[in-house]
Amino acid sequence: MTKFSDLNLNPKVLKAINEAGYETPTPIQAEAIPPALEGRDVLGIAQTGTGKTASFTLPMITLLARGRARARMPRSLVLCPTRELAAQVAENFDTYTKHLKLTKALLIGGVSFKEQDAAIDRGVDVLIATPGRLLDHFERGKLILSDVKVMVVDEADRMLDMGFIPDIERIFGLTNPLTRQTLFFSATMAPEIERITNTFLSAPARIEVARQATTSENITQGVVMFKASRRDREGSEKRKLLRTLIDLECDKCTNAIIFCNRKMDVDIVAKSLKKYGYNASPIHGDLEQSHRMKTLDSFRDGSLRFLVASDVAARGLDVPNVSHVFNFDVPSHAEDYVHRIGRTGRAGRDGTAMMICVPKDEKNLAGIERLVQTEIPRLENPLKSAKSEKTKDGDTEKKFTGRTRRSSKSDSKPSEATDAAPAAQADAQTEAPAKDAPAERQSKSDNRRSNAGSNDNRGKSGDNRSSSRSSNRSRGGRDNGKTVVGLGDHLPSFIALSFEERRAG
Ligand code: AMP
Repeated sequence: MTKFSDLNLNPKVLKAINEAGYETPTPIQAEAIPPALEGRDVLGIAQTGTGKTASFTLPMITLLARGRARARMPRSLVLCPTRELAAQVAENFDTYTKHLKLTKALLIGGVSFKEQDAAIDRGVDVLIATPGRLLDHFERGKLILSDVKVMVVDEADRMLDMGFIPDIERIFGLTNPLTRQTLFFSATMAPEIERITNTFLSAPARIEVARQATTSENITQGVVMFKASRRDREGSEKRKLLRTLIDLECDKCTNAIIFCNRKMDVDIVAKSLKKYGYNASPIHGDLEQSHRMKTLDSFRDGSLRFLVASDVAARGLDVPNVSHVFNFDVPSHAEDYVHRIGRTGRAGRDGTAMMICVPKDEKNLAGIERLVQTEIPRLENPLKSAKSEKTKDGDTEKKFTGRTRRSSKSDSKPSEATDAAPAAQADAQTEAPAKDAPAERQSKSDNRRSNAGSNDNRGKSGDNRSSSRSSNRSRGGRDNGKTVVGLGDHLPSFIALSFEERRAG
């Protein structure tokens, strides 16, 4: 097996790798680093999670360790499709250059030009940029790209999706093809990507690593086939189903990314979850950069539990400990499914990926199953099964037996709660949480993890309900000792049993 020490990397880079805790190179690293160090072009067909970032940063740093940057003439350039990915690549550079004196600048939108200009003026060894912002700087006359010795295009397929290919071509044209080495990465090779690589890469070392995660055994996958009771209720009923799925996974779900296809739905789902007392925040391209960074940081440090995201915003994000991915929608590009579920089950950990599929998405689901060459296990719709719980107990679907069975035993609360919410359902716009919505339990654990007060709604609804629940009970209700509406002091024993059981689980 190849060792890092076999790869001819700079000793100071090796030291940093060692300190990062990496023991052996991943396949893309073992294969891409040697030709990159020889100065060859590299075409890496690999996705995030495979260690591809280090496969280009490590040789770049080694190559750049000697020499100095001149003002406004960066010595290397990394192009990334999104700001988040660019920031992540910059963090990688910080990690691996900690024992070297290399300078870098990050040129991304949503941040003021002033600081970026100052950094470029001083001269940088590594420039990490999104294409649009890079061209803005170029057009302002602040940047000369003819001295770029190494140029990296990361996640080219996403660049294509985002319409950046003309920008990329233009940027290639601003560099010197005779002195430029190109390291080019893409998860897939669409014809347009093939064309670009044929045009701008010279006899590249082509390295393809296996698709990540699709059939990975450490990710438990499942899909709920769901048909709304009425078309105009699809959104609110899907949100209710999502909450139920989250609640059923409650004990195992330390945190989750919830993917929606449209930005608008990202906002709606995040807002709805918050209303129900879940510690959730949205992230998508229309939000301010500083806001997006703050949200991501809080998701990384565990103070945010549910990140509701669009594909673009979450693309390439590396958060090692995501226990669950919920696909609120079936992605329309099959590859996105692979990217999405690859956010969980990282570094050999267990992960769970659940998806909701409405009838109009069945075609896309079939496309995904074709791509991953496996049938995603169908999960029983917990809302339906809750209604017929008695007759169906134990009749759970394949593969999810452990979780589904455990959950179905304790279905009473989510089903009570979700059945208790028809008023909220009818009012799809306001979507007020039901009084005993499942979020109670959720917000308790949210509370443990999060900085209280980050979500106004929680204070008003979820948290108050949650924290006062037991005292309400012993007082005989919410109304401070007055006669109780509902069950009052006469709590049927099966409710207590169910609750305790679940708490123990
Ligand atoms: P990437 O595919 O670049 O997004 O990397 C995915 C994750 O793998 C990141 O958290 C890296 O820090 C980590 N990683 C990269 N290379 C290695 C390695 N050789 N050993 C262990 N972890 C690694």
